[in-house]
Amino acid sequence: MKVGILGGGQLARMIALAGYPLGLQFIVLDPDANAGAAGLSEHLQGPYDDPDLLAELAEKADVVTYEFENVPAHVAEFLSSHTTVYPPANALAVAQDRLLEKNFFNELGIGTAPYAAIDSLNDLQQAMALIGYPAILKSRRMGYDGKGQIVLRAENELADAWQAMQGNPSIVEGFVPFQREVSIIAARRPSGDIVFYPLSENQHKGGILRVAAACSNDAEQDMAEDYVRRLLEKLNYVGVIALELFDLNGQLLANEFAPRVHNSGHWSIEGSETSQFENHLRAILDLPLGSTQTLGYAAMVNFIGGLPESQELLSLDHAHLHLYDKLPRKGRKVAHASVRSDNLKQFNECLEKLASLANRVDNS
Ligand code: AMP
Repeated sequence: MKVGILGGGQLARMIALAGYPLGLQFIVLDPDANAGAAGLSEHLQGPYDDPDLLAELAEKADVVTYEFENVPAHVAEFLSSHTTVYPPANALAVAQDRLLEKNFFNELGIGTAPYAAIDSLNDLQQAMALIGYPAILKSRRMGYDGKGQIVLRAENELADAWQAMQGNPSIVEGFVPFQREVSIIAARRPSGDIVFYPLSENQHKGGILRVAAACSNDAEQDMAEDYVRRLLEKLNYVGVIALELFDLNGQLLANEFAPRVHNSGHWSIEGSETSQFENHLRAILDLPLGSTQTLGYAAMVNFIGGLPESQELLSLDHAHLHLYDKLPRKGRKVAHASVRSDNLKQFNECLEKLASLANRVDNS
């Protein structure tokens, strides 16, 4: 079986690494000659909407998936009409647009921050009179890792903020004074079987994920599973999904979902009986889903902008290094390291050391 992936970055790389033991082969489409998954798969190099390359991908792959959600709708449609594409194109359409996504959460009874669609300065002024400060103005499309976002603290900032959005359709959201950010990852097969991972508690800085840790027996696990199940069933979803949530006084408010494997689940490679990458493959190939049981305490730390000192990192007990074969650049995720241990003290010590190694090279 050959799995096609749109995008050949680290997520595709980790999907391929999980797929080799299952006897799978891979083909990725990515414009970058140095795409991180290129060494692990056949690489079609060119733009994501190149009709010849898409036709070749559809022809060679038994199933096509993707590692990012900003796949143009016509590309997803083209591929869907020639081969099996999972997750389904409707999930992409919703996840690509923050307004559709927030509306969708609310239709499903999943709470969010208060929000409003913004297409003009007048819209923004009217919305802010209701929502109140602070708030965040976000472009509806093409936003990730805090890109295309402006925090609004007072009325006199509105005109400049709207100008900075350059007329792009946007939404404004009330700022949620959350106690913590969590995400839940789940996988669904075409038959409807679903498995859930334990919640991940996530620390962001500058809108970018830094540390993610598995939470066992979390008080909010059932609520998060209920929410993600609603999404999966409504979308008739197949594959792995990640739902990002704010925990505000024990209530979960949805921020966004990603129709793909997710950075906050990287600890599952060593920390779970079956990783999110393997379960994504099992789901899209309609194979039995694997246990999501965690193996002790598990967490991961991102390396952003700079590579870790491999010698130093690998000398730590319980640490595992994942390099993405990417050149360091400001703000770029180039590696992560995970820690897994049955011993809480050792786990915490290792996690602290990993976080300090990551801080040392951080260039974000
Ligand atoms: P996003 O690109 O929407 O995932 O936002 C990146 C990060 O910005 C989130 O993980 C939060 O840390 C923060 N953030 C985004 N929206 C809100 C909000 N409405 N209230 C508080 N923090 C937010």
